[in-house]
Amino acid sequence: MSIVLSIKNVDKTFGGLHALGDINLDIEEGKTHAIIGPNGAGKSTLLNCCIGRLIPDSGTVEFDGKNMIGLQPHEINHAGMVRVFQTPEIFPDLTVLQNVMIPALAKRDGTFKFNAFSSLASEREIEADAVHILEDMGLGEHIHKHSGSMSRGDKRRLELAMGLVQHPRLLLLDEPTAGMARHDTNRTIDLLKRIKERGMTKIIIEHDMHVVFSLADTISVLAQGRIIATGTPDEIRGNPKVQEAYLGGAEL
Ligand code: ADP
Ligand code: MG
Repeated sequence: MSIVLSIKNVDKTFGGLHALGDINLDIEEGKTHAIIGPNGAGKSTLLNCCIGRLIPDSGTVEFDGKNMIGLQPHEINHAGMVRVFQTPEIFPDLTVLQNVMIPALAKRDGTFKFNAFSSLASEREIEADAVHILEDMGLGEHIHKHSGSMSRGDKRRLELAMGLVQHPRLLLLDEPTAGMARHDTNRTIDLLKRIKERGMTKIIIEHDMHVVFSLADTISVLAQGRIIATGTPDEIRGNPKVQEAYLGGAEL
C-alpha cells in the first residue's frame, strides 16, 4: 500500500503551549483517515502544518515522498493537497459555476507557470468538468444562481465542489458537517462516500461520531497534542484509552 502523506516527528509550540508533540502519521492511498479528538487537541494545527499555513518547529511532512516544509500554501495546493472548509469563503456575488471555475482555472494556470509545454485543458473543457461535478453534487439547478442566495447546506457543498474541481491527490476536510442540520449532514456523508468509491485519499477532521464511523477506514485520536491511538473504527471504539481521553469514559 503506498503512502500519500507521511508526517514524521512533528512538533509545534505557540509560546509556552505545546500544541503538537512528536506527531507521526502515515496516510495510505485511497483511504479515508479521520482525525478526532477533543476541542483544543491540535487537530487544526496539524492540518495547518500539512498545508503550509503553519511551519512546525521540527519534523517533516512528506507528500508523495517530497518534503513540503518551507513551501508556501499555494505551492502545496498546486502539488495536489487541497483543503476545504475553513478556507476562503465563496464569492457571494458570483454564480455557483463562476465560483467553481476560479479554483479550477487557478489550478490550470498554476501548472502553466511551472510547465509551459504541458497539454492544457481549454476553458470549455474545464467548464464541462465543473458542471459535471456540480450536477453530481446535486447543485445542477443552481449553476447560474448567485451563490450568496443559496442555503447554508448548499454553500458548504459548493465549497466541496471548489475543492473537487482541483482533482486533488489528497483532500483535507476540516469539520465538513459542522453546523449542518442532520438532513444536510446525511447528504454530505453520501457525497463523501461516493468520492471515496472513486479512490480519492482523504483526511477528515470531524466531531460528529456518526460521520466519522460512517466514512473512516482509519481513525487517529489526538489528545493534548499527541496521538494516543490509531486504528480501525472497531479498534478505536473499543480502546479504553480513547474513551477515557475523548469522552470521559462514555461509550463511543
Ligand atoms: P483543535 O482544532 O483540535 O480544536 P487547535 O489546533 O485549533 O485545536 O488548537 C490546539 C491548541 O493550540 C489550542 O490550545 C489552541 O488554543 C492553540 N492555538 C491554536 N492556534 C494558535 C495560534 N495561532 N496561536 C496560539 N495558540 C494557538
Ligand atoms: Mg479545529
